Amino acid sequence: MPTEPAVLIAAAALLGLVVGSFLNVVIHRLPRMLEREWRAQCEELAGREPVAEPAYNLLVPRSHCPACKTPVQTLHLIPIVGWLLTRGRCAACGVAVSPRYPIVEALTAVLFALAALKFGFGWPLAGALLLIAMLVALAFIDLDTQFLPDQLTLPLLWAGLAMSLFFGPAGDGGAGIGGAGDLPPALADAVLGAIAGYLVLWTVHQAFRLATGKEGMGYGDFKLLAALGAWLGWQALLPIVLIASVTGAAVGVALIVGRGRSREHPIPFGPFLAVAGWIVLMWGDALLPAALRGFGG
Ligand SMILES: [Zn+2]
Repeated sequence: MPTEPAVLIAAAALLGLVVGSFLNVVIHRLPRMLEREWRAQCEELAGREPVAEPAYNLLVPRSHCPACKTPVQTLHLIPIVGWLLTRGRCAACGVAVSPRYPIVEALTAVLFALAALKFGFGWPLAGALLLIAMLVALAFIDLDTQFLPDQLTLPLLWAGLAMSLFFGPAGDGGAGIGGAGDLPPALADAVLGAIAGYLVLWTVHQAFRLATGKEGMGYGDFKLLAALGAWLGWQALLPIVLIASVTGAAVGVALIVGRGRSREHPIPFGPFLAVAGWIVLMWGDALLPAALRGFGG
């Protein structure tokens, strides 16, 4: 494997393009797969025969145009290049293909390259790439559907705890400011991060609901913050919640003022948690000690 920084960064960017291409499939198909599953369960509960539907998962059917159903040619499946070759249109029927596809691919490639630059070659980089890929998928699924699937948040949480168990530094019981920003964090910091991450947002949610009678957040948000706590340690939670809330409020106000968007129309919180988690992943070692000092830790 490459250890030369430039080679490693280029390899990470290439891997990011391929992973980004797969994430496009996950972002598009996972919500539809879950919807089918729920519909089948409802039929079963109602005592009706489930309707036989053609196979639909992350691999089957192969990528096709949503308008004319023509399978996408192998050449046009190449990340970014395929979209440019077809000038963003279906090669068969000419219907426009969303620029979201090459954007997700390019974004994943850039995020992977930045992670390679920061972490260098090793287990922390492997963990960072997994975390980044999951955050990209979760952010876009939440934007599309206002929903963070357990099928992604819960494995991400377990993976974070496993990273700390197998590759984390031998913990000092979880008190250490010095260890803040380590990837993976000490096991005690990760477990505490997972528990506190869930409880913090759950508490805010219950208080908000008692005060306003409205649902401000979904349970997926609690699980995502629990997963980020598992990956980044409890020390990361306060900066993540602060960054996500401030940027979320700023974007929310901008949308209401700029586009006349209704105050009642919910803005998903998951993408802001994902971005905040990424910021702490990349710059937590600089941010965290300052944040902990600032809040009397
Ligand atoms: Zn077509």
